[in-house]
Amino acid sequence: VSGFSLQEENEERAPSKDSCSRLQAESEERVPSKDSGFVPSDENGERKRSEESQRSSHRVVGHSSTESAFLGDLLSGDLLSKVSGLSIEEQEERAPSKDSVVAPADENREQAPSKDSGFDPADGNFSRQRSTNSSAPSLPLSPSSLHFAAKGSRTTIVYEGKVNLNDGIRRSWTKEFLQKLLIYCSSLQFHFRSVFVLLTALQMILYAVYPLFFGGVPKSLALFGWPLAVAKASAYGACFWTALLFLSMSRDLITILARISLVKRSEVLRQLVSSSKEIHIFSAGQVMINSCLHTLMHHIGTFVAFEQHSGKELNKVLNCARGPGASMPPGYLGSHQLTSLQFPACPLPETDEKVGYLAGVLSTPGITGYLLMAVIILLGWFSRPKGRRLSYRVFYAMHHLLVTAWVLLLVVHAANDWVGVGVPVVLLIAGLPILSYAFTRAKRLYLSCLKIELVKVVRSESGQLLRLDVDLPRSYRHATVGEYAYIKVPKASRTEWHPFTIAGMEVVDGVQRITFIIMAAGIWTKKVHEIIEPEGERAVLHIDGPYFAPAVTIQAHEIVVGIGGGVGVTPFLSFLSHIASDAASNFKRAHIFWTTRTASDYKIMSDLFSKLEERMQTRGGKLVLHLHSVPKDGIWKGDGIGSLFDLATRHIWQKRVDTFTRKDPTMIPTIARYPRMPLHVVVVNDILHSGNQVAIAVGRPDFQRELKAVGNQDTHADVGVYVCAAEPVKESVEEACVACNMSTTTQKFHFNYERFS
Ligand SMILES: Cc1cc2nc3c(=O)[nH]c(=O)nc-3n(C[C@H](O)[C@H](O)[C@H](O)COP(=O)(O)OP(=O)(O)OC[C@H]3O[C@@H](n4cnc5c(N)ncnc54)[C@H](O)[C@@H]3O)c2cc1C
Repeated sequence: VSGFSLQEENEERAPSKDSCSRLQAESEERVPSKDSGFVPSDENGERKRSEESQRSSHRVVGHSSTESAFLGDLLSGDLLSKVSGLSIEEQEERAPSKDSVVAPADENREQAPSKDSGFDPADGNFSRQRSTNSSAPSLPLSPSSLHFAAKGSRTTIVYEGKVNLNDGIRRSWTKEFLQKLLIYCSSLQFHFRSVFVLLTALQMILYAVYPLFFGGVPKSLALFGWPLAVAKASAYGACFWTALLFLSMSRDLITILARISLVKRSEVLRQLVSSSKEIHIFSAGQVMINSCLHTLMHHIGTFVAFEQHSGKELNKVLNCARGPGASMPPGYLGSHQLTSLQFPACPLPETDEKVGYLAGVLSTPGITGYLLMAVIILLGWFSRPKGRRLSYRVFYAMHHLLVTAWVLLLVVHAANDWVGVGVPVVLLIAGLPILSYAFTRAKRLYLSCLKIELVKVVRSESGQLLRLDVDLPRSYRHATVGEYAYIKVPKASRTEWHPFTIAGMEVVDGVQRITFIIMAAGIWTKKVHEIIEPEGERAVLHIDGPYFAPAVTIQAHEIVVGIGGGVGVTPFLSFLSHIASDAASNFKRAHIFWTTRTASDYKIMSDLFSKLEERMQTRGGKLVLHLHSVPKDGIWKGDGIGSLFDLATRHIWQKRVDTFTRKDPTMIPTIARYPRMPLHVVVVNDILHSGNQVAIAVGRPDFQRELKAVGNQDTHADVGVYVCAAEPVKESVEEACVACNMSTTTQKFHFNYERFS
């Protein structure tokens, strides 16, 4: 029970002296003691050096059940008094206590966490509530309206070290399919879906009116047949969706649109600009469909007509064969511009010999048509989510190469000027969107010349997050909540720009200081982590932005729920930094969920949280931070919880390790194993500068219950729900929004999603 025992085993099996002193040194620097070499012992107090724990990144905990049990005891307060030698009353002052745990309300008491868990659900006001089976006196209520809420009632850690992070909802595939269908059709969730329907309808109208427009040249329709009308209409369709492809990637245009007051006021328009990536992906699918249709129609119509008619007959209906001054069909805009690219040359030889199917296939439109099909298929292939994940660089390079080839080939495709409008349709329809996109790219070239210096660098204890603060030069527009910017670090790569959310902003001496948080996710980010050292030489950056992102619209809502998975919390940190500053904010109530594998990551924003704590005492509005430490699914290897453990027990460990190593440096503290018990939440006092306790839950939140609880606090107010997390979390929140919307007619849960890939 003591949790500590003398090292008796031989040197080979035991952690070395070095490990102990290393731990101390690290602890002095307040670094998690993952290299400490602590080993667990079993129930009988028999010490055992676990090979598993050696491999584990958090050797301090060694074995999952040990850790969960230890934390369980930690929660009950017993272990704290045993280990630290402090009475429970003293612990109230110095150590974490479960009493500060806050849980959201739920009208359904049956679903509430059980007594066993040690935590009761709080009332609708999210007030602190004392556990019924605790013997310790309750903490005084904080006057601040900032709360750290936590609830891990659905999370259990089973004996063999598996973590059940399931939301608890199991469905058959039919129910799942119906649920997905419902989500997709629900225009309440995604207004852009209705817009897609509208856009598709608009294109269909183009299809329908085209024969009318083209009716001015009945002779060509009579000769080539009805497939020609469909081919031309689908060509217009492909160009229409190409225009949207470029528009949806025109960052400057979208940022300007989002700042128009009409857009800011309308939920539909807000969601429309927020959905630019979805529109981009949808447009790409439509381009593919229209291109296939266009190709098919020429193969069953135009080329067949080539097979059946001579050059003499065809020349009578081809635009390119009409000499200067000849009357042209209505709507014809050209003047035979690209004649040098024509193949076969126009007019066709004036003979009675049939032109032939192959002549169509091997013509300029034929060959460029096949190339265009190859381009669109390759674009689709390289843009698959799997392809993007495997190598973003390949995706990026191929995307830009192929999109350029797409536009150039479309121009050449129209060169024969057989039955078109006389100018390449792509320039007619997509010309302005292409220019708008080109402007965005040209601006980046200019911004590559502006050097920006870092003013502050902080690395998280886990080493996974790097916080960079920079002063944005006056030539840049001030960033607002939720926006992002592209960063180039020439020392990491001379060509690559990567997007990062502006996670914090404050004005210092009239200059805006912005914060980025960069997770070591891949090749470039890891390089940046290596190059930029907190104490090292300050690297130079280039910044392109700020640009609009979906989280910008968060300010339009009075009641906000922000859900960030890992570094996906950055859009909501930006919202919090806005609240922490003196900037006016519309919000009445906000619940920000931050789930992370490594609990010590929360410390990287200690200054913001502390500022919020201070500010919330004086300002209106209520803010609840839900910090959740979520270990990896499946077999738990001790990651995530280890850091939580470190945070919660750091000062106690340090005290004991100091005492032991002073007595005898070979004495190694070990952790006793306790019977399994559910692990819910720990409370740490290492995050806020004030030392006030912060609750950190273990496991993923049950979003349906959380959203319901938020809605129940004001059943007539709409709730803006924002998610920036992995796909499964996004899906579960979207489902929760649908369920909440179906259960009430008086309020709406507006679902918004920001993707980082
Ligand atoms: C609007 C937006 C805001 C973002 N904000 C943050 C943030 O605040 N903090 C943070 O750590 N990360 C953020 N990201 C993700 C970040 O851009 C990528 O993690 C980073 O670019 C990865 O680069 P890499 O070379 O290290 O990774 P790679 O090894 O190249 O790839 C890892 C994954 O990162 C993604 N990725 C890579 N390059 C890009 C790119 N140029 N654009 C978009 N996605 C890319 C891909 O999905 C890829 O699968 C954001 C992304 C977007 C789109």
